[in-house]
Amino acid sequence: MQSVFIKNFTLPEMESWVESIGERRFRARQLFRHIYARRVRSWEECSDLSKMFRVQLEFGARINALKLLETREAADGTRKYLFELHDGHCIESVLIPDPPRQTLCLSSQAGCALGCNFCVTGALGFKRNLNVAEIVDQICQVQRDQPRLTNLVFMGMGEPLANYEAVSRAIQIMLDPNGMAFSHRRITISTAGLVPQLRRLGEDSPVNLAISLHAADDALRGQLMPINRTYPLTELMAACREYPLPPRKRITFEYILLDGVNDDPAHARKLIKLLYGVRAKVNLIPFNPHPDIPYRKPSEERILKFQEILQGAQLNALIRQSRGSDISAACGQLAARYCQP
Ligand code: SAH
Ligand code: SF4
Repeated sequence: MQSVFIKNFTLPEMESWVESIGERRFRARQLFRHIYARRVRSWEECSDLSKMFRVQLEFGARINALKLLETREAADGTRKYLFELHDGHCIESVLIPDPPRQTLCLSSQAGCALGCNFCVTGALGFKRNLNVAEIVDQICQVQRDQPRLTNLVFMGMGEPLANYEAVSRAIQIMLDPNGMAFSHRRITISTAGLVPQLRRLGEDSPVNLAISLHAADDALRGQLMPINRTYPLTELMAACREYPLPPRKRITFEYILLDGVNDDPAHARKLIKLLYGVRAKVNLIPFNPHPDIPYRKPSEERILKFQEILQGAQLNALIRQSRGSDISAACGQLAARYCQP
């Protein structure tokens, strides 16, 4: 029997797999509970399975998909996990405590192909998609330190909608009552704006949405984010308006403030116009500087002015300071140091 990564299976896939190795279908549910509710680390711990089944699992099924290389904790409690994949690439996950919430920021790809010019992961280039097990195992490994994760956000390395199949199957495992049993209201996908996949996500599993906007006109957005040349703002905004949000939820629009680039009052007014009539809230993120990226963070005064203009138009706008900057917690910054370019 060829060895499989057990966390690659959704529950129906696990049922087919256990049958294919001669076990009864209901064993899949049991395995799911062992792995995701009890969080076993070895098959020996599953004493309610027959000895023979355990031996089969021992030889044929791997529980862990990631190797933990390092963890770092920032002064503000943010904790970063650096993982190695079986082929040597590195990814990172970030645990952000914000009581009563414990949010885990997940990676969906090693590197990213979309090349936004303010982003360290973008500068790394694309290495490969993560598989389902590599996505789900980030959660399992962090849960060993922090069993009470409340929220999951795909805001780590990579563009989640560019790895649609694996991300949506991983979400099925996160939602499965026999699996991790998260509510879809607690899961957020952040995207640079892949419109066809965004529409598909709405049909398949409408979780919360965060759109990385960063500019409210096509000329500027196209400069910062090449993806805007394929899916310009009118298409992106139409998909956002039609997205089936959970009741009482809004779409988060992320807007990194880059000094002298997108942070003028005129930019704020364009943003108000663009979001008019959308169930939106805005996260203003002062740029988190990095030696390889030629942008700067605006002054406090400019940041507050920008926020004030949005709020003046009844737009819900919060300033989100990057957390854990002393441990390179912004997207891609720690893994970038470990992976060869
Ligand atoms: N690819 C997806 C998800 C990962 S990026 C996306 O782009 O939405 C997660 C967030 O980190 C994005 O909003 C991205 O714009 C932001 N980000 C990237 N580099 C940053 C930096 N240097 N400072 C602040 N935020 C950054
Ligand atoms: Fe990729 Fe998101 Fe970084 Fe853009 S911001 S390069 S989409 S990870």
